Amino acid sequence: MSSSTIRFSQLGLDSRITDKVAELGFQSPTDIQAQAIPIVLEGEDLLAGAQTGTGKTAAFGLPLIHSLLNSDPADNMPVNGVRALIVTPTRELAQQVFDNLLSYAEGLELKIVVAYGGVSLNPQKEKLRSGADILVATPGRLLDHAYNKTMDLRFSETVVFDEADRMLDMGFLPDIQRILKRLPEKRQTLLFSATFDKKVKTLAYRLLTTPKEIQIHAQNSAAESVSQILYPVDKKRKRELLSYLIGSRNWQQVLVFTKTKEGTDRLVKELKLDGIKAASINGDKSQGARQKALDDFKAGQVRALIATDVAARGLDISELECVVNFDMPFKAEDYIHRIGRTGRAGNSGLAVSLMSRDEEPMLAAIETLIDKRVPQEWLAGFEPGTEVITEDQPRSRRPSRSAEKRKMKAKLKIHQNRGKHRPR
Ligand code: ADP
Ligand code: MG
Repeated sequence: MSSSTIRFSQLGLDSRITDKVAELGFQSPTDIQAQAIPIVLEGEDLLAGAQTGTGKTAAFGLPLIHSLLNSDPADNMPVNGVRALIVTPTRELAQQVFDNLLSYAEGLELKIVVAYGGVSLNPQKEKLRSGADILVATPGRLLDHAYNKTMDLRFSETVVFDEADRMLDMGFLPDIQRILKRLPEKRQTLLFSATFDKKVKTLAYRLLTTPKEIQIHAQNSAAESVSQILYPVDKKRKRELLSYLIGSRNWQQVLVFTKTKEGTDRLVKELKLDGIKAASINGDKSQGARQKALDDFKAGQVRALIATDVAARGLDISELECVVNFDMPFKAEDYIHRIGRTGRAGNSGLAVSLMSRDEEPMLAAIETLIDKRVPQEWLAGFEPGTEVITEDQPRSRRPSRSAEKRKMKAKLKIHQNRGKHRPR
């Protein structure tokens, strides 16, 4: 997974941590780990970009644990003080980062707490009342605890924004500003993501003090370990094509992204009719149902997990073989994050996009962002414009011969003139 020959033992980490890393089977640090760990250990601010699945969690998690183990909290820190804070955009990612940190710090004297919405406040309050070495949280719930004075952020030494560009976009920024106000001015701030754009970077630099910047791969690049393919297809036939692909390619574990919450549930029902075990994850579900769907999927009990972009960021599903964009993403950077759920930790992966005509502008935006063409192919039997007319369709809804002819002609013209819908 790593191209460097550096070893974990050379990075200045406590041997208790390097022992643990070896136990976890990490043979050598990834590039982002090799570069970020010494900087984080120095206490410097950092903006770090590296592709999906390259081990960014350990890149901030390991040195954070080291620093907390090897220093004492401020003398005047209140009992409910939090020494380090990690903020993530989704609950599932908070849980995952928390689980990762627990595995890195197992057996060490550190208190790590997780707090996110959708589950009851009281157990979290109980835990936080006596403070934490590390708190992993989503912004909304973090503010609930701050307003409730459950915990105190005034003495936090380090704050990490995972999926930093997402945390600083319009949706989250007001909450993030409220959180920043509660943190001390003098602190270490770390920003990690696979994508950064200019606007976010400008904003990011305002939060950072004489920061270091690391960019491992070309900015906003999709992981090379993921092979990408796009099938142009009529909108109405996407569902049929998805079932066909799952069946004919014998995919056992596939993560499918749709654009709406309702879309996830509809697709689950339809796949079930085709005999494919599916579950959905979206923002309307109870947190219990969300986590269960993800856990069942990870455990291989569900073959297709249908998700909105709530699952696009950060989730690490061991050896997930395939991601499908059932709908093209609204935001080009979400393409990078969605497909980055596969091809992680040195494994290869496949990303398939189903694109209807109206989604062509989204593809153009993606290709501009990643500065690459997404390979396209027409799939035999699913070529766009070849919708099958079945006998049970009412006559009135069947196109007349001349209408059909007109349609074909128009289509031919479009292809000749624009060639845009053609596989390249
Ligand atoms: P990112 O945040 O960059 O998308 P993660 O931190 O989620 O990536 O890590 C992706 C996967 O790689 C995880 O399963 C993690 O356990 C594994 N991993 C991390 N660091 C290493 C390493 N040095 N060697 C092998 N596997 C690693
Ligand atoms: Mg991550």
